[in-house]
Amino acid sequence: YEDDSFLPGMPPFDYSPPPYVGPSAADILAKRRKFLSPSLFHFYGKPLHLVDGMKQYLFDVEGRRYLDAFGGIATVCCGHCHPEVVKAIIEQTCRLQHATILYLNAAITNFAEALASKMPGNLKVVFFTNSGTEANELAMMMARLYTGCHDMISLRNSYHGNAAGTMGATGQRVWKFNIVQTGVHHALNPDPYRGIFGSDGEKYAKDIEEVIEFGTSGRVAGFISEAIQGVGGIVELAPGYLPAVYSSIKKAGGLTIADEVQCGFARAGSHFWGFESQGVVPDIVTMAKGIGNGIPLGAVVTTPEVAEVLTQHSYFNTFGGNPVCTAAGLAVLNVIEKEKLQENAHLVGFHLKRRLSLLMDKYEVIGDVRGRGLILGVELVKDRKLKTPAKDEASRVMEIMKDKGVLIGRGGIYSNVFRITPPLCFTKDDADYLVDVMDYALSKV
Ligand code: PLP
Repeated sequence: YEDDSFLPGMPPFDYSPPPYVGPSAADILAKRRKFLSPSLFHFYGKPLHLVDGMKQYLFDVEGRRYLDAFGGIATVCCGHCHPEVVKAIIEQTCRLQHATILYLNAAITNFAEALASKMPGNLKVVFFTNSGTEANELAMMMARLYTGCHDMISLRNSYHGNAAGTMGATGQRVWKFNIVQTGVHHALNPDPYRGIFGSDGEKYAKDIEEVIEFGTSGRVAGFISEAIQGVGGIVELAPGYLPAVYSSIKKAGGLTIADEVQCGFARAGSHFWGFESQGVVPDIVTMAKGIGNGIPLGAVVTTPEVAEVLTQHSYFNTFGGNPVCTAAGLAVLNVIEKEKLQENAHLVGFHLKRRLSLLMDKYEVIGDVRGRGLILGVELVKDRKLKTPAKDEASRVMEIMKDKGVLIGRGGIYSNVFRITPPLCFTKDDADYLVDVMDYALSKV
């Protein structure tokens, strides 16, 4: 496009943030440099100074509106500052901010009950944590305790967290440090776009049998995987993969763990949990991100039989099950139901994916469009046959989109995949605006 005059303008939105009184971006940046770890200097291009949020929109210090199609990294599922979530947080904060699970408090049990009602099979026992990392650490520890085995299997290209155990399970060099991370074997990733067996899930599943045969004593503690890899660049596991793998893991005496931190909680649209699209029921499910709409909260849900292992040990954490966080969690579940956010994710996601796919006819640089619901990926390549990653192009497109008020994320081991994970209240008009802006930005690179 010669210019951006064809762009329709952002969909109207009836909210004006209050005027901002506070330090400037330069002051904040200077303090970050002085007081925060340098590892936190990971911006996409020029950092934005954001001061307000409402539903699917963010506002910068000058009151400029941005369509948030990254959703705080797939976290803000009901939308920023959803009034019902905010109300639940304020009410609980005023009554009792902190209790620990040593005492009785209904905020904790009400949410545990509601969460259990969203689970299939006999997954009824909830442990609350503070993050996804902690949930996965606990899940892997439970599998090891339950089976008496140490060997776990995870997938290449996965992301499961940043503590020693979960870093071990993670299958991407960039997220691993050279510290002790024992006992996890990484199997072939059933990636329909880049994997060697294309979309044949059952062929990839054979690799798990080989990993068990050649890398373990024949018995394993368990298998952990996302159903749609988020950080790895929105890779939906090839169909038929999980049923075959779950059966091999069972035969080897292990437990199956579904990491739903990113793809769970209605985001996948067609189902509430990502693993449901493959028709399996895991032994343990972990979650975080969307569960609290941005409030620090995670959970592990398992069967009474598996949960029993922890009764022989003193497992406890100070903040797990904090009543303010669980009150937020309950409000999130109610909003998802009341506003039919799962159905919205399904319908808007379907429309968005179809429109993104049409861009492939226009731009050779798009190698793949994938995902489901409102967890979608667009992979940029320099050459469709060789699939050479187009990282710089991806970064330039994102900057142009940001300039036009649309925020998306990036991921994949080559950093060349757009991650589109907006709040689940994203509308069809928002989706159209995002695609028009991406179309314009792609025309410029
Ligand atoms: N598991 C998955 C699939 C994730 O995407 C993440 C975070 O991005 C985690 C686990 C770790 O969660 P947290 O950052 O809350 O520790």
